[in-house]
Amino acid sequence: MLRSREPRVRSSAALSAVVTDVDGTLTDARRRLDPEALATIHRLGELRVPVILATGNVLPVALGLYRSLGLTTPIVAENGGLLYLPTESRVLRLADPSVALRAFRRLRRAKLPVRRLFTDRWRESEVALDTSVPISRIRRALRGFPIQVEGTGFAIHLIEPGAGKAPALARALHPLGRTLADCLVLGDGDNDVEMLRAAGWAVSFPNGSRAARAAADYVTRANFAQGFVEGVKSGGLLDRRRSR
Ligand SMILES: [Mg+2]
Repeated sequence: MLRSREPRVRSSAALSAVVTDVDGTLTDARRRLDPEALATIHRLGELRVPVILATGNVLPVALGLYRSLGLTTPIVAENGGLLYLPTESRVLRLADPSVALRAFRRLRRAKLPVRRLFTDRWRESEVALDTSVPISRIRRALRGFPIQVEGTGFAIHLIEPGAGKAPALARALHPLGRTLADCLVLGDGDNDVEMLRAAGWAVSFPNGSRAARAAADYVTRANFAQGFVEGVKSGGLLDRRRSR
């Protein structure tokens, strides 16, 4: 167990929601969902603890998982580029895709053999590339260009500066009367760092990126989804009685 800094939450009673990344956090290294992680989410539902998915994946993929999990909370998709608000049946686009598309064209002009993900046909606010070209080469080619380049281990995302999971979560949590400081947040990638830093209790995993681990209050012993289960337990959220 590593504790990178003093926890911001003195009592787990202050935590009232869970925010979780999906790929690498609820899944194994091959993106297969872990039954124990799913059972933990069901248990949180029984305890009436809201669980919010915050993923770099496209909304249709996130929505399929969300429905299967029986969730009713907002969804942060495309690294915060899209926010689904179920109570209003609305999807807010919080990032400008034209910025990402210009960066992508620049990579093509620089003759980098970059390939967009298959799921980019449903992506509305950013560009996601497969990992065939190393992120260091992409960053070098885009030096000086106003774009965020984030790696998740599964993909490389080109995102408008200022967009991200954390600002989207602030908008998602506001109607629930909460901020990220009220949340247990779990994530493994560089794209999770900002939301981990703002969390009431931040959890990452040994397999997480160096930056994600540094942003965490607690780094679990177990990797991937087994770490998710351990991380939720570390926040004390499973010890509660069902709230009224
Ligand atoms: Mg991840």
